[in-house]
Amino acid sequence: MSYSRPVRERLDGRHFDVAIIGGGINGIAIARECALAGRRVLLVEKADIASGTTSRATRIIHGGLRYLEHGEIGLVRESLRERNRLLKERPHLVRPLNFVLALHTHGVIRSALAIRTALWLYTQASGSHASRDRSESLARFDSTLDRGLDLRLFSYEDAQCEYPERLVAEWAGEAVQAGAVIRNYTQALEILVQEGKARGLRSRDLIDELEAAVTADWIVNATGPWADEVLQHSQLEQEQLIGGVRGTHIVLPVFGGAPADALYTEASDGRPMFVIPWAGQILVGTTEAPQLESVDSAEPTAAEIAYLLTAVRRLYPRAGIAASDIRYSYTGVRPLPYSPRESMGAISRRHKLHDHLEDGIAGLITVVGGKLTTAASLARSCACMIGIRLPEAPATFVAAGPDAGLENTFAEWAQTVAKVAGIPAASAAAIAEWHGRHALCVARTAALDPVLQSPLCPHSEHIVAEAIEAVQRESAITLGDILLRRVPVALGACWSDECSRTAAARIGAALGWTEHQQRTELESFLEERRRFLRPVPPGPFSPTRESLLTQSAC
Ligand SMILES: Cc1cc2nc3c(=O)[nH]c(=O)nc-3n(C[C@H](O)[C@H](O)[C@H](O)COP(=O)(O)OP(=O)(O)OC[C@H]3O[C@@H](n4cnc5c(N)ncnc54)[C@H](O)[C@@H]3O)c2cc1C
Repeated sequence: MSYSRPVRERLDGRHFDVAIIGGGINGIAIARECALAGRRVLLVEKADIASGTTSRATRIIHGGLRYLEHGEIGLVRESLRERNRLLKERPHLVRPLNFVLALHTHGVIRSALAIRTALWLYTQASGSHASRDRSESLARFDSTLDRGLDLRLFSYEDAQCEYPERLVAEWAGEAVQAGAVIRNYTQALEILVQEGKARGLRSRDLIDELEAAVTADWIVNATGPWADEVLQHSQLEQEQLIGGVRGTHIVLPVFGGAPADALYTEASDGRPMFVIPWAGQILVGTTEAPQLESVDSAEPTAAEIAYLLTAVRRLYPRAGIAASDIRYSYTGVRPLPYSPRESMGAISRRHKLHDHLEDGIAGLITVVGGKLTTAASLARSCACMIGIRLPEAPATFVAAGPDAGLENTFAEWAQTVAKVAGIPAASAAAIAEWHGRHALCVARTAALDPVLQSPLCPHSEHIVAEAIEAVQRESAITLGDILLRRVPVALGACWSDECSRTAAARIGAALGWTEHQQRTELESFLEERRRFLRPVPPGPFSPTRESLLTQSAC
């Protein structure tokens, strides 16, 4: 049996209530909100959903402790409310994470009392009044960090979404179920404006190269750091809206003394820095540099990598971290509001919905800024601007009943999946963790055919049925869409070229790919992975000694 992807319907000549450009977390959240409210929605994305800034983030779902220092109380409150909502609604994807705040004692303006007060305010604003005993976590950090650094340690709780790519896939699936047309690999060429009103879009399908023109009552430009470029291509006279700020991360294998909780500290120049356990590895980030060239050309620079490496070595001198230990680096461009007179760290992280009526064009909104954390509330504001009346308190799906703990809910999901699909418990648990309630759909697909029950590669718990679901229900088209974003096994600690070859063969067999198709899919996947997760080239910071790190084994 072979499982093919659904046919892409023709767009030319169609009318939509809302046409959205950009399938990052913000565009998809807006599409979902409008479709659930019964609007006819089109979303076009030039690459794959969540392949832009959304997959380049630090992946924490946070209130923004640092924003307190900038007096952005409203933003902190909104972010904490959204964080709590995500923890409740998507507990399989957004999980609580303990943070240790490590601040230098020398030459520092903040007193311990001021920091404790800020943390108390932060906890109160989050609605959590429980003060957990975190002395054990603090003691662990105290014993692994460099004692010479004179760090003062505090602890607090925030959250992490290891795979925002999966969150976006789920929201996109829900938008499609509510009737939205989500079109990846479709580039908006021009916003069509007539007599002071945005009337529609001209787009090109990058798969069959066909152009289409659609009309729409509202156009939302949700292209993140590309927003100005889209407006320029549409010949719209417009002041610059976005000031792109590049942020780079490096990814290390788990090293001796590596944190089990997240570390939030300041680098030597006072910039915030995170060291976070992620996907069986350690994520270190980030930097801030203006992205003056085109967004598509953004890549980690040698100076950024050296900066992050120096900072993490300084914190963990006993781990013997060398440049050759860096598994890869990745970079993204924050779509911050254009603020040439402000320092990059001080630019507000609050989003803005720019109504182009201010510039004489009705029916056009551009999204400026935004965070993973606040995408859903941004979407609700956008829906309101469009004239959609939303219920005062959006319905919340709560995964666990009042008496059932979350771990019980996961265990129940996993048990059902194992039973329905006839797969081992570990595999069922991995599927429940990534797909939540939708894990049952994966299980039903797996039950159709033993080929779909096989793992994607010998080391993975994830199975071919997840790839089929990705293609049939989550608009995945390429091998890269599957392995990097819908079933993101290729971000993991032990993924190798051999894993890629095995997964391509197994997925290709189920999807009925020819040998040629399988080869080209594999080649473009490897190329895309290299462009995203960049191996660190030999450079001035290359080590000459053996790495002391414990390499994670599959
Ligand atoms: C380094 C870094 C770290 C971050 N860390 C965090 C964090 O820990 N927590 C947090 O909450 N937030 C974080 N953020 C912020 C967050 O990631 C972004 O604000 C958010 O992902 C922006 O989403 P978006 O949908 O607006 O943009 P994007 O995800 O960039 O989506 C825009 C999409 O538009 C598409 N597009 C562009 N041009 C066209 C066209 N002509 N036609 C069709 N499609 C087009 C692009 O391909 C892209 O997919 C971080 C950001 C960066 C850069």
